[in-house]
Amino acid sequence: MQRDGINKSIWQETTFPELPKSPDREHVEVIVVGAGITGLTAALKLREAGKSCVVMEANTVGFGTTGGTSAHINTVLDTPYTAIIEQHGLEAARTVVESTRKAISVIKENKECYKIECDFAPCSGVMYAQNEEEKQMLIAIKDALAKVGIPCSEVDSIPVPASFVYAIEFEEQARFHPTKYLAGLVSAYTGIGGIIRERTVVQHVEKKNDVLQVKTDNGHVLSADFVLYATHTPPGVQVMNFRLAPYRSYLQVWELEREIDCPEALVYDMQEPFHYSRTVKQESKSYLLVGGQDHKTAHHDNETNNFRQLEAYIRSLYVVNKKTYEWSSQYYESQDKLPFIGYYPGKRHHRELLSTGYGGNGIIFGTLGGFMMAELVVHGKTDFQDIYSPGRLGPFSAIGDLLVENLDVAKHFVKDRFFLEEIDELATLSRGEGKILNYKGKRIGLFKDERGELFAVDPVCRHAACIVKWNNTERSWDCPCHGARYAPDGRLLNGPSVAPLSQLLLTPPK
Ligand SMILES: Cc1cc2nc3c(=O)[nH]c(=O)nc-3n(C[C@H](O)[C@H](O)[C@H](O)COP(=O)(O)OP(=O)(O)OC[C@H]3O[C@@H](n4cnc5c(N)ncnc54)[C@H](O)[C@@H]3O)c2cc1C
Repeated sequence: MQRDGINKSIWQETTFPELPKSPDREHVEVIVVGAGITGLTAALKLREAGKSCVVMEANTVGFGTTGGTSAHINTVLDTPYTAIIEQHGLEAARTVVESTRKAISVIKENKECYKIECDFAPCSGVMYAQNEEEKQMLIAIKDALAKVGIPCSEVDSIPVPASFVYAIEFEEQARFHPTKYLAGLVSAYTGIGGIIRERTVVQHVEKKNDVLQVKTDNGHVLSADFVLYATHTPPGVQVMNFRLAPYRSYLQVWELEREIDCPEALVYDMQEPFHYSRTVKQESKSYLLVGGQDHKTAHHDNETNNFRQLEAYIRSLYVVNKKTYEWSSQYYESQDKLPFIGYYPGKRHHRELLSTGYGGNGIIFGTLGGFMMAELVVHGKTDFQDIYSPGRLGPFSAIGDLLVENLDVAKHFVKDRFFLEEIDELATLSRGEGKILNYKGKRIGLFKDERGELFAVDPVCRHAACIVKWNNTERSWDCPCHGARYAPDGRLLNGPSVAPLSQLLLTPPK
């Protein structure tokens, strides 16, 4: 199984079922773009309702964040209910809780109906404060949980060997194995006639003669009545770019000296950014998974340092034997901390739908989004439609300014032939390293692989012309504006871009 970074996640051990061959078609009722938890949840519901459906995936199933998640299943979200109540009101916060419960029930129903072996384990959640300021915040969170109806109590012990001054425990959480679940969705969906087309980038969608024409990078055009975007931001430059911000989070899995120290509960501290942990079972052995160090994508000088800091944090708490996995992945925050699920804003028709902006709760909101989009297609309405409407009003984020700044940079970038002996900074480039270098006042993205071979790209993002940044742990070119990502040689890894970085011609020294 492949993922959008060089570090391997524990979930990549899963083998996906072979996809059945399917005849080429000219028209289907629904095209779902993206084969993560959102897209596959939607596709399965649509097939169950008898809709003809094709899932188009730019890479392979699970390539995106679903293959790099930590798979806590929550009703208690990363955004505290104190903040949700303050921004959206108590009634809305209660609706949010109801919707997260709906998402958990969808996962359970799929698991039971299709007999998906995905290590689903109901458990509690624990949050702990380590100083007076955190304690006051946690007391407010406990009060908010009571108001929104999530059973919660103070506790005087926690399942982590950390000092604490106050802690709470809440019920109705769970954890599972995300790619085993995804593999189960693939089998269920293709088993009832669903089609998945991998390595197919959806580049452009246009409404013509009452159908949507979907153009892909392999030159095909397929028409559909509905298109569902399960891609975080929909492809291309569009209004959602201004309502979402990409973030990166880091995870490590450790074998502990005492297996019994792995917590049964989902555990959260209250540091800024906070750490989250859970237990993962592999071949009936328990391992500790801890995540954190979150930051805005491409807004960190040295991504690798986040792993060092995460490791230091884990070692300060546990006696560890060995680290078995570490990886990082990308998620998207919405401008008002609630996801966007529903009809694509600004279109005159109700044929394109999207689901995005989940923050760190996309297993829940991705499931909910997939379910709701399918309901909107099949019935024209769904529960929770108003609260998550992508058309709701909200403050514009600062991302827009960044976009404008970078457009100016792009205008002055000249495509040229680059003579290696004239690139001063080349001498400082190590194997496995990438850098934006200067060449006669122009910028080049240069990567040297382990064998010393050089790859040069134009570092102007193909989405909205921001300048990409080298991510030194996942070995990718990441865009600070809207989260598009590219492999060292420029291949496309993540939208909203739909094209690779331009490769540049390098002339070796004579
Ligand atoms: C480190 C980390 C930990 C997390 N932990 C949790 C957690 O504990 N609990 C939780 O609920 N959430 C968590 N999340 C969030 C959650 O994992 C994600 O929000 C969720 O997996 C997103 O699923 P998705 O299907 O929407 O997107 P993805 O899984 O990213 O799938 C989108 C797919 O769309 C494809 N695609 C993109 N553009 C195109 C195009 N133009 N054409 C065709 N295909 C395209 C991509 O290749 C990709 O495969 C975490 C996120 C991170 C980063």
